[in-house]
Amino acid sequence: MSRTSLKNRLTQGLLLLDGAMGTELIARGTEVGKCNDYLNVESPDVVMDIHGAYFQAGSDAVLTNTFGANKYVLARHGLADDVEKINTAGAQIARRAAGERKYVLGDIGPSGDFLEPLGNLEPAQLRAAFAEQAGGLLAGGVDGFIIETMTALDEVTIAIEAVKSVSGELPVLASMAFDKIPIGFRTMMGVDIESAVSKIVSLGVDAVGFNCGTLTLDEYIELAGKYAAAASVLSKDVIIFAEPNAGKPQLVGDRPVYRVSPEDFAAAAKRIHSAGVNIIGGCCGTGPEHIKVLAEKLRS
Ligand SMILES: [Zn+2]
Repeated sequence: MSRTSLKNRLTQGLLLLDGAMGTELIARGTEVGKCNDYLNVESPDVVMDIHGAYFQAGSDAVLTNTFGANKYVLARHGLADDVEKINTAGAQIARRAAGERKYVLGDIGPSGDFLEPLGNLEPAQLRAAFAEQAGGLLAGGVDGFIIETMTALDEVTIAIEAVKSVSGELPVLASMAFDKIPIGFRTMMGVDIESAVSKIVSLGVDAVGFNCGTLTLDEYIELAGKYAAAASVLSKDVIIFAEPNAGKPQLVGDRPVYRVSPEDFAAAAKRIHSAGVNIIGGCCGTGPEHIKVLAEKLRS
């Protein structure tokens, strides 16, 4: 059975993404602190199993296990030369899990460094690094790209431009991670909602979103309303996506632990959907059970 392109599908109402990858890897016994992205090469069956669990739970699309697979993050693990191999393998695994009926989004996270003058990155280097990652994902057969957990406007801008330079007709989604401080929602780098939405939309993405961050479920719902308001000022056609965490983490020792139940998560996601968000999944602390209950609640 053939299916419509992801670009078309994004415009056709509710689309469910997956939940977290990292927590599921740990649940399957992978070592904390290892390079998760290298598991695409080393232990593809484990990654495939997680994608399969999310599709089984009701996801329409999964994100490749490549969040940190740009050369700057990989360099910390001595893997800077393996960008293409890791991304292509990650895309191929997700493609196998998705088959021809479900979708694969090539996942691209931040570089972990800052652009000049704050950090050492030059724009051209960063652009080349994101294009290299996107090229590897494209070669592995993704249906589109998702740039997420961004906190700086200059970095998200370069990431979008770089991905679009190789993506051809494939859709590109981009999101930023917000916290709530007394003056309102801001990314770690101080970007507000209106600036994030207007900048990202102006770059011609297929959907603009928010993910991760340190927020309660109620705050994610509030953020969704403000995102929708900011988008509606620009155009009524802006597509919004959200991947909230399973609530605000509690620190146990030095590890964040997420305790929100699948039912509470799904109830919040329903309100996020009602606020005008049509593409929904989960970030840190969400697992297949969260997606399963979410799918039941949103599709009923
Ligand atoms: Zn997260």
